[in-house]
Amino acid sequence: MPEEEEISRIVELNEDLIQDNDKLAAQNNQILKEHGIKSFDVVGAIGAGKTAILELLCEKLSNNKRILVINGDVATRVDADRIEQHGAKTIQINTGRECALNAYHISQIINNIDLSEYDILFIENVGNLICPSDFMLGAEKRIVVVSITEGPWVVRKHPILFKFSDIAIINKIDLKDYLDVDIDEMVNDAREINPNLEIFTTSTKTNENIVDLIKALEI
Ligand code: MG
Repeated sequence: MPEEEEISRIVELNEDLIQDNDKLAAQNNQILKEHGIKSFDVVGAIGAGKTAILELLCEKLSNNKRILVINGDVATRVDADRIEQHGAKTIQINTGRECALNAYHISQIINNIDLSEYDILFIENVGNLICPSDFMLGAEKRIVVVSITEGPWVVRKHPILFKFSDIAIINKIDLKDYLDVDIDEMVNDAREINPNLEIFTTSTKTNENIVDLIKALEI
């Protein structure tokens, strides 16, 4: 067990880290705004459907918008390869042992590419409902994605992420007949945590409510 002093030092170190990240996130936000880029940080667990939703959004938006997707994953470029089939440019970041993207990852990219080539930036964060909550990236809006396969309490169990998001997606509603989940209750949970959230129940199989989701992005 670390000594009490040691523990408090670790806590301070973490706070410094988060503060530094916040500063860099604010810079990222400024840079993206200056280039007129609409940006979204998409967070959610592995298998929630983040990539599938981004595939659909890129499919529908890439006719008249230039889209960049930054994909965060511990390893592989599976997601980036999928998304590239739908008219977006992609950059894969492999974080190795880190369970979330941070503002430094994004800053390294946006300071080294020609941002005038893009209208929209989607950042697909590493699949995880816990780690990303502390690390803002500088995107204009944060979108949290959960699926009804994650169980009826998934929203209540992750209040911080819902509190600090702008849009919530409850996905895979096409599976509702096979699962013991009350979708309205999940929506109510999200609304209770954050009354300002825009909430969409979606399916990437039937495309239910995808058009409304796109409207909410105000692109
Ligand atoms: Mg993915």
